[in-house]
Amino acid sequence: SVPAAVTSGLAAGARRGVLIKGGAALETIGSVRTVAFDKTGTLTGNRPQVTDVLGLRAPEAEVVALAAAVETGSAHPLAAAIRDRAQGQAVPAAQDARAVAGKAVTATVQGRPLAVGSPRYAGEVAALSADEQAQVARLEEQGKTVVVLLDGSLVLGLIAIRDEPRPDARAAVARLKALGVRPLMLTGDNARTGRAIARDLGLEVEAELLPEDKLRRVAALRTAGKVAMVGDGINDAPALAQADVGIAMGSGTDVALDTADAALLRRGVTGVGDLIELSRAVMTNIR
Ligand code: ADP
Ligand code: MG
Repeated sequence: SVPAAVTSGLAAGARRGVLIKGGAALETIGSVRTVAFDKTGTLTGNRPQVTDVLGLRAPEAEVVALAAAVETGSAHPLAAAIRDRAQGQAVPAAQDARAVAGKAVTATVQGRPLAVGSPRYAGEVAALSADEQAQVARLEEQGKTVVVLLDGSLVLGLIAIRDEPRPDARAAVARLKALGVRPLMLTGDNARTGRAIARDLGLEVEAELLPEDKLRRVAALRTAGKVAMVGDGINDAPALAQADVGIAMGSGTDVALDTADAALLRRGVTGVGDLIELSRAVMTNIR
C-alpha cells in the first residue's frame, strides 16, 4: 500500500500546481542528479514574437501569410508567433499539414509544396545562398530563432522570432543549483541562439538536437545518476520517456503530457524545484 506520506505529498504537489502521476515519480525526483530542460516552450514560452521578416523571393506580407497557412494546425510555440504576425491578413487554406519533429512543418498551400523549418532543414532540402546564410547568422547572433519559408527547393523568405526566457527561468535554474542538482538545456534550436539564452539563464547547453539525439543524451546522462527531463513538445516525448522522471509543461502537447510522469500546471518552471523539495520531505518522513 502507498504510504500516507506519499498520498499527502501528491496532494501537496497538486496544491502547488504540480500534477504527479504516481508515488514512484514523487519518490524518484528528489534524488535526481541532473535536470535536462528543453528550450522552446519550456525555459521560454512567454509568447514568442516575430521580429524580422525578410522577403527574398516573395513580398514580406506574402511570406507571413504563407508561413501562417503552413502553421495553421501546429501546436509549436513558433507557429503561434507566426500566426500572430499574420493577424489582419488573409491566410490561405493549407492541406496535408505534417510536422517534421524538431525540424519543420510542411503543407500544400494554393497547390504549392511549402515548408517552414529550421535553417538546417532548409539546407537539407534546398541550397541556401552565401548571402542567405549570412542573413540567418546575423539574426541568430542576436539570439533570435530563424525559420525559413520554402516552396519546394526555393527559399521564399526568412522569419526571425524572439523567444524570451520565462520570467521565472533564471530563478528556477539557480534553485536547482542550490539543491545540488545540475541543470542543463537540450535544444533543437541552433547553437548560436541556444548559447545566447543559456548564458542569460546560467546553465549549460547542447543545441541542434533532434528528438532521437535528446533521447540519447538523456540515456548517456543516466549513467552518472538519475535524470529528470522537462519538455513540452512532440520532439521531447522520447527523452521524457527515457528519463527517470519525465515532466511535461501543462501547456505542452498531448504527446508530452501522456508520456510524462508529472506535469507543471502553472506557467513557469520553478515547479521543478518544488517537486524536488517535496520529494525529499516525503522520503524523509517515510524513512
Ligand atoms: P526546442 O528543442 O528548442 O523546443 P524544437 O525541437 O521544437 O526546439 O524545434 C527545433 C527547431 O525546428 C526550431 O528552432 C525550428 O527551427 C524548427 N521547427 C520545429 N517545429 C517548427 C514549426 N512548427 N515551425 C517552424 N519551425 C519549426
Ligand atoms: Mg519545446
